[in-house]
Amino acid sequence: MQERLFTPDDTSDKHRARARIEELRQLIRKYDYAYYVEARPLVSDRDYDRLFAELVELERRYPDLVTPDSPTQRVGGQPLEEFAHVEHRRPMLSLANTYTREEVVEFDRRIRQALGDEPYRYCCELKFDGVAISLRYSQGRFAVGATRGDGFVGDDITQNLRTIRALPLVVRPIRVGGVLLTDFEVRGEAYMLRADFERLNRERLAAGEKPFANPRNLTAGTLKLLDPREVARRPLQLVCYYLDSEQVQLESQSANLRLLAELGFPTSPHWRLCPTIDDVFDYIAEWENRRRTLPFDIDGIVVKLDSIEQQQRLGTVARSPRWAIAYKYEAEQARTVLKAITLQVGRTGVVTPVAELEPVFLAGSTVSRATLHNASFVEQLDLRIGDTVYVEKGGEVIPKVVGVDLSARPADAEPWRMPERCPCPHKSKLHRPEGEVNYYCESPACPWQIRRRIEHFASRRAMDIEGLGEKVVAELVEVGLLETVADIYDLHTKRQQLLGRAGWGEKRVQNLLDAIEASKQQPFHRVLYALGIRHVGEETAKLLAEHFGSLDAICRASLDELQAIHEIGPRIAESLRTFCDDPEEREIIRRLRKAGLQFEERRAPRHKHTPLAGQTFVFTGELDSMPRSRAQELVESLGGRASSSVSKSTTFVVVGRDPGSKLAKAQKLGVPTMTESEFLAMLRHHGVSL
Ligand code: NAD
Repeated sequence: MQERLFTPDDTSDKHRARARIEELRQLIRKYDYAYYVEARPLVSDRDYDRLFAELVELERRYPDLVTPDSPTQRVGGQPLEEFAHVEHRRPMLSLANTYTREEVVEFDRRIRQALGDEPYRYCCELKFDGVAISLRYSQGRFAVGATRGDGFVGDDITQNLRTIRALPLVVRPIRVGGVLLTDFEVRGEAYMLRADFERLNRERLAAGEKPFANPRNLTAGTLKLLDPREVARRPLQLVCYYLDSEQVQLESQSANLRLLAELGFPTSPHWRLCPTIDDVFDYIAEWENRRRTLPFDIDGIVVKLDSIEQQQRLGTVARSPRWAIAYKYEAEQARTVLKAITLQVGRTGVVTPVAELEPVFLAGSTVSRATLHNASFVEQLDLRIGDTVYVEKGGEVIPKVVGVDLSARPADAEPWRMPERCPCPHKSKLHRPEGEVNYYCESPACPWQIRRRIEHFASRRAMDIEGLGEKVVAELVEVGLLETVADIYDLHTKRQQLLGRAGWGEKRVQNLLDAIEASKQQPFHRVLYALGIRHVGEETAKLLAEHFGSLDAICRASLDELQAIHEIGPRIAESLRTFCDDPEEREIIRRLRKAGLQFEERRAPRHKHTPLAGQTFVFTGELDSMPRSRAQELVESLGGRASSSVSKSTTFVVVGRDPGSKLAKAQKLGVPTMTESEFLAMLRHHGVSL
């Protein structure tokens, strides 16, 4: 199927227009599904928007070819089977998009025409690149949270949204025109900070998992998780920009933004009132540069008519309001040729395809390799050697291929197939476990895996052994001096063998042995991370070390006890169990212990006021005085821990209004409970001013 722009000359033939419209609709539906439902786009936004604009234009010329099921008539995704469905009180629409000044001028012209001589002004806001959500409040409390879905019906993701710390569970009492505002809907965007996205991706890569393409996709994927605990591990942010209530008549978008902030909702401080279209262009130009200084991604800005009464008069067209437009910035993207696809073997044996590219300059550096994530990504895109591909960086760890220009495909390009065997010297058969997207090299003795494991162990964020980088590890594995990470600490007995090698003088050998010796002082959490246990990234290792204090304690803990930690889900717990039970790993640990590595966390003396140290609090039901997230923060600020599930080791369960099953569990296990006022009294007793 050709993805090309339809030129005006072609449209004279309505018959051909009909065929092209159908072709475009099919393509767009396919891309929508990948983007909205699977959170895994197949083409860049720019290309998608171009196809969409072509369809809009053709339908404008041939209005009788418009059908209600055309993508131009509806919004985005569709509700998922796994969640309960929520019907939106007002449809959640999309925004008309533009990349050009002319279209913004045209938008302004239409507004002026519609409003006659009336004065008007715009409210300009940043367009957060996240996922739209709706939040309903009833009697001042957060009641239901939903995704946009198809614009009319979304998924009920209330539990997942509750994990967002910035989301107020109870709003501040505010009167508007004498009426206490208690029942309303707020709309906003869930998004993720780039730093959190990069950290999570680093952890995923370290754990041998597929990284997410960008913060937006990670946010979309996170909101669809079925386990809110897993959601809580991925720090989502929230920004709100819309409020609607039958209790009050609201005046303007700018007044709404102020009101949202007063009620306690996170809003962006960067909006601006723009009396003229030139002011709008100034705002666009300013943020084109400033956006790089933000800790999160924006993909453009939104221009809204400020007056709500004027908005209502203008109304909406099929899928977007007439009174607003999004001006999108170009993503930092490059176009280049795919020269080859090679395979890379990770330390857990996962084998991933890598794009070898014609070098191209992109956002400050030359890119010649990019990740292709996994074999099914290549299959989905139907990537072929010789294809012209789009590459993006967007702040990620590694550049990635985001799309392919099918119109530039060489005629003889052949589909790519995942090789059957690992490229390592063992050439072992590759295996794809049921339900997984990744292939694995099945030979645990695969020297490539061994190399990656040792590289990871010695890497800067793990044991930080200088002089034991990629090349040295490859050399020492090849000659059999290193087979497991434990062999590193026997290298001092092989001094002569090292000295016998080309390029290894006395000084170099001594430096390496000194660095190895020094690494024995690395704290336990680094050792734990260095061991490369699946799913245990840096943050998880720190958390485990802090909570359990030693590897022995971690290995003694039951699956339930492991999961009693807020951020630890069943996958991590299972993986720890497998690691602890593996005889080969145990032997490695025995040797590392003998060498003198740290397997216990040495606790730094705390000078802080920590009267709740060693105590774990669990909250159930809603608190009247503060959001639960605030209560948890206060417990932590006093040295205690806040956990989400009750176990025998819980010190207190604080019982708020409408408590859930945690109260019953506390009673069953005999864990003491506290009322909200007792909890507040305890906080005051420890010097917290409320
Ligand atoms: P959109 O992202 O262009 O704009 C609408 C959304 O902007 C709103 O729903 C809201 O969530 C968000 N938004 C952020 N900040 C806002 C603010 N301050 N005020 C109001 N809204 C704000 O529209 P969409 O319908 O979510 O998605 C369509 C776009 O998604 C397409 O134009 C395309 O770029 C992209 N897309 C890409 C693919 C692909 O395959 N690459 C597929 C489908 C859609």
